[in-house]
Amino acid sequence: MRLVLVGPPGAGKGTQAQFLAAHYSIPHISTGDIFRANLKASTPLGLQAKGYMDAGQLVPDEVTNEMVKDRLTHDDTANGFLLDGFPRNTVQAEVLRAFLAEKRTPLDAVLELAIENEIIIKRLSSRLTCKNCGAPASPEATACPSCGGELYQREDDKEEVIAKRLAVYEEQTAPIVHFYRTEGLLITISADGEVSEITDRAITALSRVHG
Ligand code: AMP
Repeated sequence: MRLVLVGPPGAGKGTQAQFLAAHYSIPHISTGDIFRANLKASTPLGLQAKGYMDAGQLVPDEVTNEMVKDRLTHDDTANGFLLDGFPRNTVQAEVLRAFLAEKRTPLDAVLELAIENEIIIKRLSSRLTCKNCGAPASPEATACPSCGGELYQREDDKEEVIAKRLAVYEEQTAPIVHFYRTEGLLITISADGEVSEITDRAITALSRVHG
């Protein structure tokens, strides 16, 4: 299964990606997580991305595209992958299409998590993230539900940055929904409700394209 997850920040992509990747036994590739890991390790890539991330802006395409293409050549992607947070604009979508076409491994589906802005703002401004594994956690959690690691509030989950991230989504990422609809790959589900409910909804919708 070669799958892309799209949806605004706070739609629950990271959470659903973890369950779906486990369900289909494919790697979960989150560009945000890769950038954050590089930032934590103070690599040149991390330092390059930091200013954009802290401001809620997209890291330049040249940097991001090369990073993803490199990741998609790793052996663990042989049976598929789940991309979370990439592509984020139509240039990235075109680069991905060309890259996969060359390898004759096109996408099977693009799953859109649809949700209202009001719910997003509430979710993001109260969400915590694991310092160790990057998993999201609810505000009541005292340790990471996945690995027990320490929790913190992401710099870009502060209220003033959320508004910027939503504007960037509308302007730059929302057009890829149209791109994938035209390609016949788009499946849209509601991302409102309990986590397990949304996972079931996703698996049911995906079973129509990938038995
Ligand atoms: P995320 O965890 O997906 O919300 O990503 C956090 C931040 O990482 C974004 O606000 C961007 O600054 C950067 N980022 C993640 N994915 C991409 C991408 N595909 N293109 C450009 N920047 C990205």
